[in-house]
Amino acid sequence: MKTVDNYIFFEQKALIRVDFNVPLDAHYNITDDTRIRAALPTINKILKDGGAVILMSHLGRPKEGPTEKYSLKHVVDHLSKLLNIPVSFAADCIGSVAKEASSALKPGEILLLENLRFHKEEEKGGVDFAKQLSELGTFYVNDAFGTAHRAHASTAVVAQFFPNNKCFGYVMSGEIASVNKVLNFAEKPFTAIMGGAKVSDKILILEQLINKADNIIIGGGMAFTFVKAQGGKIGKSLVEEDKLETALKILKTAKEKGVNIYIPVDAVVADNFSNDANKQTIDINVIPDGWMGLDIGPKTEAIYADVIANSKTVLWNGPMGVFEMSSFESGTKSVAEAIVSATKKGAYSLIGGGDSVAAINKYKFGKDVSYVSTGGGALLEYIESGSLPGVEAIEK
Ligand code: AMP
Repeated sequence: MKTVDNYIFFEQKALIRVDFNVPLDAHYNITDDTRIRAALPTINKILKDGGAVILMSHLGRPKEGPTEKYSLKHVVDHLSKLLNIPVSFAADCIGSVAKEASSALKPGEILLLENLRFHKEEEKGGVDFAKQLSELGTFYVNDAFGTAHRAHASTAVVAQFFPNNKCFGYVMSGEIASVNKVLNFAEKPFTAIMGGAKVSDKILILEQLINKADNIIIGGGMAFTFVKAQGGKIGKSLVEEDKLETALKILKTAKEKGVNIYIPVDAVVADNFSNDANKQTIDINVIPDGWMGLDIGPKTEAIYADVIANSKTVLWNGPMGVFEMSSFESGTKSVAEAIVSATKKGAYSLIGGGDSVAAINKYKFGKDVSYVSTGGGALLEYIESGSLPGVEAIEK
């Protein structure tokens, strides 16, 4: 893997694709700067080498070209504070404004370009637009894992203009190494834990994981489609009727391949979707009419904790229940705790995909697991297809 550590950037102008898609409040204050902080090591390495840095990113989903709300100028002051040096800003990412700003840049200096998505060609992967971006720098670094599953101009297309001068930043290389470790070099037993609302979102991943994992643990809303497919009564729990066959097929394939699939044996059920609904704990296949399963039950928690405790590699995507509500968070919390203790005993644990990251952060376990992925959709697509456009563009 070619990373910034393989190069010395002295007198280079590094064009770095970062992910500065940060949340802003109504006054344009950054409410969570995690993504900006994540890019600092790559930026600092290049500046320290005596290179100059040109940052490009998207922010939000502007539909109609330049929009105040989505301007990256709101990020300049904070970035400058974090780096402790001035950051200059180009009010367009291409054209004379960008060209002049980049030409004026000296070693050790840094420039942030305006939102790439103010140009439609970014998301369309426009070759001419990518070429114009490429003319701003002498070296291309991709450090935006969150958008690496998109073949956009700045994430993939631009790489062709740097045939010998391109590499991954630390965010990208960390993410790639961690997925690789789990998918291609997993120490066994390898347990994949899948949860969340819908089976339909997770079918492709399940199909991939059946070829890799020793154990697959299922929880969350998606579990009820499996329970119903096997003839269980699930009351008014979440179900995807059109995926019952698929669920049975997944179970059959897993059996043929010798993969253990764990479906919950009990559930915490409620009479409506609310934190203070009436609730009871019950075997999962006899849920009465009018009740819905919103968490795995204590018997299931114990079984899952045991499987996780005996694993050497753990991948977790998706909560075990409606963990946002305190009445239904126990299953998700207990899985998180089991992963933390397996990690303490030497297992490698990768947490990724939106809501499991939110859960790990809710319980403040971020530092007690091996790796928390920053790219939800990108991580899932990586697992599904074994690569990403943004990764291939560097490796090609
Ligand atoms: P996903 O984005 O597919 O990972 O789904 C995450 C969402 O699934 C979270 O907001 C959970 O509250 C929700 N969820 C988890 N378990 C259940 C359940 N048993 N019934 C309804 N929603 C659930």
